[in-house]
Amino acid sequence: MSGMVYGDRKQEVIDYEIWPKVVPVGQETVLHVRNLYPLPFVVEGAPFGVCVMPMEGLGHPWPDRFAAPVVTRYEQGGIRVSAYFAAEQEYIVEIRPLAMGPDGAPNLAEGTDAAVISLRVFALEADLFARRPWKGDIHMHSFHSDGRESPGFVAASCRKIGMDFMAVTDHGRYAPSIEAQENFKNVPLDMLICRGEEVHPPENPVHMIHFGGSESINDLMRSDPEGYFKAIDAYERKVEEITDPAIRRHIASCCWVFDRIRAVGGLGVFCHPYWKVREGYHIAGGVTSWMLENKPFDAYELIGGYHKYEADSNTLQVARYHEERAKGRSLPIVGVSDAHGCAASPLFGWYYTISWAEKLTRETVSDAIREGFSVAVEAMEGEVPRAYGPFRLVKLALFLIREVFPLHDSLCDAESEAMFAHLRGEASGAQGLERLSGGVPQLYERLWAL
Ligand SMILES: [Zn+2]
Ligand SMILES: [Zn+2]
Repeated sequence: MSGMVYGDRKQEVIDYEIWPKVVPVGQETVLHVRNLYPLPFVVEGAPFGVCVMPMEGLGHPWPDRFAAPVVTRYEQGGIRVSAYFAAEQEYIVEIRPLAMGPDGAPNLAEGTDAAVISLRVFALEADLFARRPWKGDIHMHSFHSDGRESPGFVAASCRKIGMDFMAVTDHGRYAPSIEAQENFKNVPLDMLICRGEEVHPPENPVHMIHFGGSESINDLMRSDPEGYFKAIDAYERKVEEITDPAIRRHIASCCWVFDRIRAVGGLGVFCHPYWKVREGYHIAGGVTSWMLENKPFDAYELIGGYHKYEADSNTLQVARYHEERAKGRSLPIVGVSDAHGCAASPLFGWYYTISWAEKLTRETVSDAIREGFSVAVEAMEGEVPRAYGPFRLVKLALFLIREVFPLHDSLCDAESEAMFAHLRGEASGAQGLERLSGGVPQLYERLWAL
């Protein structure tokens, strides 16, 4: 975790607590503010002026926002103020300590701007307000393919950086994802460890992620290669209109794989279409275009595991996404690290998905991605995080990354320590997980208005 995550708001996020932070549009909500550490001007009975302002409703130059503030007092360890939120956006809650006039009433004209406390809340329409944000990475490798660590270590590492759901997706191998589940099967865990694999059909260069389904597609192909090729022949006849035989063959194979992933309850991801292998992209442009037009998959890997020198690939994937959306097409997305190591390798944590679902289950986060309630986040070491996807979700994601996830991630970090202890066979691991269980749900209960 770097200080950059907080941007220019680190100190206020640390010094003060405001709750709820996420409120419904179209109604009055009572906001609570308290200082977490002693401050000289915060004493019982002290008067404060409070202004609640929409970020998209101001425009420079700002009005004198403290001309007519709501006046409230610090009572019983905090400040309470009721506000109405008219539209879906971020709101600034500015609080200024007020001087006392000679008559004992607060003097609105006097106060120090230096002491202004600037806090933030986000108002949401009902459909999004009912959902909670869950961070996930569903494309990573362990030492069972070409990664560096065990599946259990990858899972604990994911919790360390604040993931709520994850899957190990080794090349051609489903069993490692089950191994990660087995490592934690007898302890309470707030993070979902899901099944998965990267699917590599024979004679097809397209990489596909299978997230969450109950059976392996790689094993299915390996157990009956003849049956697989026969099925592809049949699928080819469904896409006869494709004249190039090589492209038709690859597409038929992909369609079969995505159908099989769905048949076992999984989410199918079309991976890294602009990955460069030597001089060229690893799949033909004709395959990418057909896939984006016909969408046999559930989600498109919008940004993924590229090193900085490979930035072209993500840039093209993002440009292609906007192009497809401009044609009026829906295009569900994920961001994934495709990390081949957690502890001493870049990429891990650089790219992830936020999925908005009412609760955290494999089915609900998958459905949310299918329904377009997800963004892809790029969070490279030392860089300010960026989010890609639908505009309203990106706006919300930037707020969450700045104002909510630092709190969320510190709870996850504590859980990860207990996960590592459990992996080492120490009893303190299970005890720690028992004690910390329910942390993130409780945080969300506090931060979302009732
Ligand atoms: Zn791949
Ligand atoms: Zn991969």
